[in-house]
Amino acid sequence: MRKNKQPATGIEKELKCQTDWPKSRSYTAIVNSEENRYSPETVNLLELTYDQLVDLFRERYGRGAYHSAALYRGFYTHAGLALNALPAFAASPRLAAQVGSDLNCIRPEVADQVSEEGVTKLVFRLTDGLTVETVIVPMTHHTTVCISSQVGCRMGCRFCETGRMGLLRQLSAAEIVSQVYVVKVLLGWAVRNVVFMGMGEPLDNLENVLQAIRVLTDQRGLDIALRRITVSTSGVLEGIRRLAAMDWPQLKLAVSLNAANDEVRSALMPVNRRHDMAALKQTLQTYPLARGNVLLMEYVLIKGVNDHPEHARQLARYLEGLPVRLNLIAYNPRHNTPFEAPTQEDVDRFHQALIAQHVFVRPRRSKGAGICAACGQLGALCNPAR
Ligand code: SF4
Repeated sequence: MRKNKQPATGIEKELKCQTDWPKSRSYTAIVNSEENRYSPETVNLLELTYDQLVDLFRERYGRGAYHSAALYRGFYTHAGLALNALPAFAASPRLAAQVGSDLNCIRPEVADQVSEEGVTKLVFRLTDGLTVETVIVPMTHHTTVCISSQVGCRMGCRFCETGRMGLLRQLSAAEIVSQVYVVKVLLGWAVRNVVFMGMGEPLDNLENVLQAIRVLTDQRGLDIALRRITVSTSGVLEGIRRLAAMDWPQLKLAVSLNAANDEVRSALMPVNRRHDMAALKQTLQTYPLARGNVLLMEYVLIKGVNDHPEHARQLARYLEGLPVRLNLIAYNPRHNTPFEAPTQEDVDRFHQALIAQHVFVRPRRSKGAGICAACGQLGALCNPAR
């Protein structure tokens, strides 16, 4: 039964993040609550794992798991918390006051939401006014959330809308986690998969992405299985090596390849001029994968650029010796693009050519093109109205 919403006061307001509006209200109304205003000097609960919260309680207040567990559970299980409503804090008003002034749960506001074909794109406005986008993709029994790791991106891939923005800034771990928190906890979607395929190159913001993964996978919090998280990179080799050293073999690594030779790849993706395809392959060959796990390769098919039958042969040779599944995605045209989308026939032909070369390939239809939520379309420039 829903409780009546009371105005927040005192300590309750300090950490209150609860929203219990009915699902029929717009997402903007659900997420943009008054309680979203806190001092940025305080620690954001969204960037802490449970163990880190316990450490913080020990160091700052000389308390341990009892209070931390109550706080963490309240925040993640009950979609928010009012400290003075938690029995663990009711008997310790001084502690509640300290915690209330040290911690916050700032999360971005939803500035806009658009939906098409079941896909919903949320535009989040960050505290400095910049915006990032998150895409909710419902499947039959669960939901995938495609999240952003940066505002813009410096990698400059020519087919990508985000790349045209340049890098405006990195997202903090809390800003990354909050995208999933909002979708799963506040809006009630059954989120199972999280993919770092939104705005930004995750391995260009590695420390915050790693911390976000630690928080996302915390079983006392959002509890996303590591094997359900995919990090997609354009091929930042130092980042791939750091990921490899994390000893997270269940984590899925996706590489945005998009070409079968260096000439085409360097023309499409400037990162290839720094690390060519041979260096990329060498790094991927040593990437530790759990049994049964494969590398994912994304190949955005662009008419007349990377769709020649010879490209299929070169691609098959390149992938030899790598445990790979290739996702073939038809290019989504953007505004003022120099490139053309392939026809369904083009996609089928290239797909068949790859199968003939024994490549493990799956054509993937990118939903949400009409609302600029499809692959390579996220970014302020995609919607000239904004
Ligand atoms: S494809 Fe990815 S890495 Fe390349 S510009 Fe776009 S967001 Fe950045």
